[in-house]
Amino acid sequence: MIVRRRWTAAATTAILISAALSHPGTATAAPVADTAPITLAATETALVRVQLRDQAQLDRLVASGVDLANLPRARDGRIIADLVLTGAQLADLTARGATATQVVQRAGDGSRHFADSVRAARARTAAGLGAPAAGQRTTAAVGVDTLAVQQAYWWTTGGQTFLQAQVATTATDDPDVEITVSWRTADGVTGSFPLYRFEDSGEYQYHYNVPQPVPSRPVQLTATSSLGGVSRAVTPTLWPNATPPPLPAGYQKDFIDAYLTPVDIQARIKRLARQYRDLVDVIDLPNKTQGYRRNAVAYLGDPAVAAVVVESVRFGDQGMNGVQVRTVDPGRPNRPLAVGYRDRVLTVTLATDAAGKTVSTTDDVAAAVNARQANRFRATVEDGSTGLPMPVAGPARLDDGLQGTEVPAKPWTVQALRLGVHRDGSRIGVLAYSQEHAREWATPLVTLEFAERMLANARTDPATRELLEQVDVFVIPTVNPDGANYSFNDYNFQRKNLVNHCEGPARDPKYRTSWGVDVNRNYTVGSYFDGYVGASANCLSGNYAGTAELSEAESGNVIALAKAHPNIRFAMNVHSYGGYFMWPPGAYRADGRITLPRPSIDESTLFLDSARRIVGAIAQERGTVTWPSQTGPVADVLYSAAGNSADQLYYELGIFAWDFEVGNDRWNPATGEWEGVGFQPPFDEAHGESQEYAGGLVELVRVARDHAAAEAATG
Ligand SMILES: [Zn+2]
Repeated sequence: MIVRRRWTAAATTAILISAALSHPGTATAAPVADTAPITLAATETALVRVQLRDQAQLDRLVASGVDLANLPRARDGRIIADLVLTGAQLADLTARGATATQVVQRAGDGSRHFADSVRAARARTAAGLGAPAAGQRTTAAVGVDTLAVQQAYWWTTGGQTFLQAQVATTATDDPDVEITVSWRTADGVTGSFPLYRFEDSGEYQYHYNVPQPVPSRPVQLTATSSLGGVSRAVTPTLWPNATPPPLPAGYQKDFIDAYLTPVDIQARIKRLARQYRDLVDVIDLPNKTQGYRRNAVAYLGDPAVAAVVVESVRFGDQGMNGVQVRTVDPGRPNRPLAVGYRDRVLTVTLATDAAGKTVSTTDDVAAAVNARQANRFRATVEDGSTGLPMPVAGPARLDDGLQGTEVPAKPWTVQALRLGVHRDGSRIGVLAYSQEHAREWATPLVTLEFAERMLANARTDPATRELLEQVDVFVIPTVNPDGANYSFNDYNFQRKNLVNHCEGPARDPKYRTSWGVDVNRNYTVGSYFDGYVGASANCLSGNYAGTAELSEAESGNVIALAKAHPNIRFAMNVHSYGGYFMWPPGAYRADGRITLPRPSIDESTLFLDSARRIVGAIAQERGTVTWPSQTGPVADVLYSAAGNSADQLYYELGIFAWDFEVGNDRWNPATGEWEGVGFQPPFDEAHGESQEYAGGLVELVRVARDHAAAEAATG
């Protein structure tokens, strides 16, 4: 039975989800009038922006291993989180005081946007076509508390000017302090807006707000607190205040015309290597992945009554799909429990008593299969079926459940592109890698657009040629192809890889969309295994850290490439979504919120100055400005991410390692709200992200070139 519930959206934006939602791919979303309710079918999975009741609710969610898609943070004083959840889970949250404010993406959207993008591409072919700002710290002790303006930045995009401020009070322990920012423009217009307290891991950080629209360039900003504190007046600074060189006439771009599956990416890599032989090497990374494969599995019995989960030890495609399993009544008294395997049928003959009645339990059956067919099968009692009489059941057909028909079912070789005139380690190296997280479909579009821009323009644009003379560029477009194949074919919200380390009842196929390791929590520095926050030992958690540091082929490949090429000094880990630009430290310990060591002053300056250049280059494409509040160390601007790759690259290998979260929130002038774009937006949006962030990666190459030149100059 499908239960439908209704919620009232607090925001003025609302999307009505129709009953068609239970049929992915046919759902239609209709924007409707203000304050219409958001409804979601109980069994439907969607990506929803939710206003939580309080911090405690968020903490409980995180502890439960919820799939947290984006930053939980105060927006306009509300605690907002983007969550992948079912209608039933949303109903539960709502009953506890949460409110859904935006359905960012529904389950069927991904495949529809993918199909749309491919169709449009074919049609075209057929037609022939953070960190606190330096110099902004100003304090004045007037009232009970003292206020420091840590950041005050403004910028203009799409004809709209925005102002963002971050202010700290010395009354850190008083949760009721209210801070208001007052501003004045050059032509004398004034206004004000509130800031909101931001705590992380129980520690006061500062007060802030999302960027606020103002009529024109602000020239003065003052903060006041409810305790009487008044900051000194400051002049807001232009953000990012860095402009890349203009694109030369004839500069080539726009090499992406559809979403790309791992098979498509493989073909693109091959084509680039052929087309630009003199500038490209293809590197096969050392660890093959598991491949798009799963064990074949079936319920023996009815999981609603009593059942045993039986699965093959080998993968389904290794001859185990279609194998059958059954229990039979021997029809005679006093028979022992027996297990036999013949002609691809696993038969469990149930034990009987003196009256000929079957007496085996579910536990007996599972134990017998594990004891006598351990080389072929693994059995677990279904959650809730323990100790129940085992019924006569089956034959049930084992199947791996994988829907993809055009995906090679074998271990996958992950590939990197190496671009440059001198690919011999003599030049400074830059590494860009994407799709550690399977569902982030826009991210390989970014790195492949970047790679092809560098190659195509190296033949026609002297400045690009010079960059590839001076820099050795490495690109891994998809780190996690198995998960990506699963995301494209089976479950679009798949984040992790396809390796199932679960044991016992967690191997129940009802959890099939929750298995896998979070590749970006499987690295060695500041890891879960070291006691850092933001990863989990629960194999069903969205942030499962794996069985050990670098237990996974995918993470091992990234590190192997970096270690094999010690000239790599800069790296960019491309994720989506949310519009962040981050660097180490990326993790802290819960107790006392002790982060990994902070970079030195010089290195922090390099991180921030380079970030401003790259943010400026991203904005060059379509005016997307990554917020200053989302530019900085991971642990400060997003959350603690124990065992992430950038931290290992930086702390262990000395690489300046950054993270993009492409897909910035879009400003909706009609509602006055920033809206999330999701993992698999309509292709036009994904295309825009690929173009703007590829420009950011080109600027990263310039940063590396300049860094090498400066080092050479100072000896
Ligand atoms: Zn990610």
